[in-house]
Amino acid sequence: MNTTTTHRLAVRGGEPLVGRSFARYNPIGPEETTAAHRVVESGVLSRYLGSWGPDFYGGPEVKAFEREWAAEFGMRHAIATNSLTSGLIAAVGALGLEPGDEVIVSPWTMCASATAPLQWNAIPVFADIQRDTYCMDPRSVEASISSRTKAIIAVDIFGQSADVPALREIASRHGITVISDTAQAPGARSGSRFAGTLASIGGYSLNYHKHIHTGEGGMMVTDDDDLAERMRLIRNHGEAVVGKQGRSDIRSIIGHNFRMGEIEAAIGREQLKKLHPIVARRERIARLLTERLSGLPGLTPPVAATGNTHAYYIYAMQLDPAALRVSRDTILKALTAEGIPHLVGGYTNVHLLPIFQQKIAYGSSGFPWNSPYCSREVSYEKGICPVAEQLHDTSCMIFEICQLELNEEDVDLIAAAFHKVWAQLDQLQ
Ligand SMILES: *Cc1c(COP(=O)(O)O)cnc(C)c1O
Repeated sequence: MNTTTTHRLAVRGGEPLVGRSFARYNPIGPEETTAAHRVVESGVLSRYLGSWGPDFYGGPEVKAFEREWAAEFGMRHAIATNSLTSGLIAAVGALGLEPGDEVIVSPWTMCASATAPLQWNAIPVFADIQRDTYCMDPRSVEASISSRTKAIIAVDIFGQSADVPALREIASRHGITVISDTAQAPGARSGSRFAGTLASIGGYSLNYHKHIHTGEGGMMVTDDDDLAERMRLIRNHGEAVVGKQGRSDIRSIIGHNFRMGEIEAAIGREQLKKLHPIVARRERIARLLTERLSGLPGLTPPVAATGNTHAYYIYAMQLDPAALRVSRDTILKALTAEGIPHLVGGYTNVHLLPIFQQKIAYGSSGFPWNSPYCSREVSYEKGICPVAEQLHDTSCMIFEICQLELNEEDVDLIAAAFHKVWAQLDQLQ
């Protein structure tokens, strides 16, 4: 083999160092097949009824899945939904906000946790993120609080818990509630607790791309009996049953159909058994990658905040383009050309999506932002989240490790491609 061709950067016509593909991540095995089969054979694929009675709370698999999830996470209540998006809508609804109330959200998230307040005509207000963890910055949250702020939706982004104790401390001083979006960090720890269990309400996604999944699905957790019941009412046409239930507080009980089916629940019960081994394995592989990359100048691998473990849904790195004298995007192209899949520049700045830029959510005239229920003008202009914007535009590079089932050999190959590019950065300058 001609060594000059082998060593030349692939982006400059050389041979890609990674000459093969990697296994796709797939946590589904024979246990899930058996579980799904059991439900199909029973003929009862969902047992929910949208009327008052025992079946208002779902069938045997859903109830068992909720019991097992609550026990595993050490919570009084677990409430299964058909997605975390639905679960977050139920969570915000459970708080019984008034139209025009404000909810502080994160710019770095999947859009559902920023739009959930809008479903109740509440106003999302974006706080900036921390440079090292990408989670909400408590100082920015504090600065974003107004007299109308009623809740904070913290996002455990990329696989580790936000600083929920600090957020709760702020929240308790202002009489507001903290919700955790833990879609990307199931099984990660924050001190002695699991991510998602430190807030008043936590939520996990069971969508196809997450650590464990049921195709589509979500699971909410809380220790608060009333919030739990309100989420269950919103999950299943609550307006039809509050009378029979004898409930007088019917704020925001416009029920939806957020119900999880029995097949998904049966699969979820098997997936839950696999969660901790899956997270441990992902952690080991990510640590190995960090070891291999740690010597590279101008590259900072992901870090877990003190007291946190990291579940590595996304392996996020930061580049220092000034020190490297090469832009993030040029390096990303070179690495991708070497055959590393699933590398992406930056993440999403949700506040810059058209829905917020144009303030168009319901109809075309600016509702709810321009309604008389709102007390002030909220800004979504570029510049309100400088850290998130800078990371997205110039220095953050994410590796969607969640898409792959990597072994040690794969990690060595990926690291070798990084080292190859770093050895020839001068070629890219
Ligand atoms: C996946 C995800 C969601 C949405 O979960 P679904 O179950 O797909 O609705 C919400 N927030 C974050 C941070 C996510 O990654």
